[in-house]
Amino acid sequence: MKILFAASEAYPLVKTGGLGDVIYSLPRALQQQGAEVRVILPAYRLVLEQMDSLRIAGWMQVQGAGRLHDARILEAGSRHLGVPLLLVDVPSLFDRPGNPYLHPEGYNWHDNAERFTVFSRAVARLASDTRLLEWRPEVVHCHDWQAGLVPAFLSLEEQAPASLFTIHNLSYAGIFSHQEFEQLALPRSWWSPDALEFFGNFSMLKGGIVFSQHITTVSPTYAEEIQTPAFGYGFDGVLRAMRHKLSGILNGIDLETWNPATDPFLPSHYSARHRYLAGKRENKAALLQQLGVEVSDQVLEEPLLGFIGRLVEQKGIDLLIEALPALFTHPDVRLVLLGSGESRFETALRELAALYPGRLLLNLGYSEELSHRIEAASDLFLMPSRFEPCGLNQLYSLRYGTPPVVHAVGGLVDTVVDATPENLEAGRATGFHFHEPTSTALLGALEHALRLYRNPPVWHQLIRTAMAQDFGWARSARRYLELYRQLGAGTVDD
Ligand code: ADP
Repeated sequence: MKILFAASEAYPLVKTGGLGDVIYSLPRALQQQGAEVRVILPAYRLVLEQMDSLRIAGWMQVQGAGRLHDARILEAGSRHLGVPLLLVDVPSLFDRPGNPYLHPEGYNWHDNAERFTVFSRAVARLASDTRLLEWRPEVVHCHDWQAGLVPAFLSLEEQAPASLFTIHNLSYAGIFSHQEFEQLALPRSWWSPDALEFFGNFSMLKGGIVFSQHITTVSPTYAEEIQTPAFGYGFDGVLRAMRHKLSGILNGIDLETWNPATDPFLPSHYSARHRYLAGKRENKAALLQQLGVEVSDQVLEEPLLGFIGRLVEQKGIDLLIEALPALFTHPDVRLVLLGSGESRFETALRELAALYPGRLLLNLGYSEELSHRIEAASDLFLMPSRFEPCGLNQLYSLRYGTPPVVHAVGGLVDTVVDATPENLEAGRATGFHFHEPTSTALLGALEHALRLYRNPPVWHQLIRTAMAQDFGWARSARRYLELYRQLGAGTVDD
């Protein structure tokens, strides 16, 4: 079974969020179950800088915005992702500093429409023309808006493989103007509400929704939610119309990268069976010390809350900011926060950190290392997201024995079992839900969690149950393989 993954990020080469983690870990899981997977990315400068050897697989000319581009297709071998990596190299579009989507000063690159149209055109051609690669995928698995036009361009090819489109986050829809649509020489018939048109503009994500043979989202609950106006970002109508080909498959996590028994970022290792209390405590001591808190036995008894994520409204950071003064009326609570994002949230957090020194341990920026340490060291993990397609941090925190407090939406509902009296009694509970996106509801769940934290037998049971959950990729990878088979893959060489 031959599957080509088309995406704009893959950990560890380039990652801005959960998409990068999935493009690293799902192909490996599929490969372990016998599929032949390759990943294709744009050749960003950041990615090329990490390559030691590259082979030029071929050249093609690709239509851009009123100009043709010479694209090189590069083969980078399996060293980086564990599966073969291909790159679409168009220096005028991708050889730029920093983030894949943003100018170093924080605004979108002015030519993002052209960049990802060219990428998608190249992928569709490569997937359909055996002369270019001598390897023809049976399914092209496209991810998010940056690869949304791939299924649309495949629909124009004669020998096209099937396409599967996965929505990792519906709120990023790749929306561009009619002028850009014309400059990119997209087929006129696509300017229609039945194709790419989206309320007077066009959406690349909609290309994936309309033209793919099947759509998945990254949790079953999110697959239902996006069909409603509250979560649909204007796409709920088209998604309801496409529900016959829409399903939800939960993301998994990479059990090697996120393993508290071997994690190279952790000062102290532990597992569900071995030293989980001592291990967590040692990591807590090390992290607090690293962040300038004077550590004592008493400090180690006091609850440490963790938050990691993009500082945007989606993640409910405003709810958390609003809740902090009330939370800090508990004189012993600390919150360690790692994130970067909108400046209004960064400013508010800086102000709070100055008001609550030693209590709000603020880390603005991006750090893989610190994110692992926070998962291990915290007693509770906060995810007050307004919506959450799947969410990965709550899965990491379950595996690291850090019960999550979550807004009961999307993948958070599908993965965290609320500590109701019945669920506690049955030994099923793994965390805490709240049901309204308000700071009051968040505080209510936190109060409940802090009460249980002060009841060690119940708390230790909660940690053990959380750590016993299996959120590896094996089960979800089987579901994707089944879907690829339904789309016609694996009939020749299996
Ligand atoms: P999203 O994709 O919406 O950002 P997810 O929970 O699916 O949210 O995935 C976020 C990923 O990015 C996780 O691996 C998380 O640890 C990581 N992450 C987010 N912000 C930071 C940060 N500031 N430093 C380190 N890792 C971060």
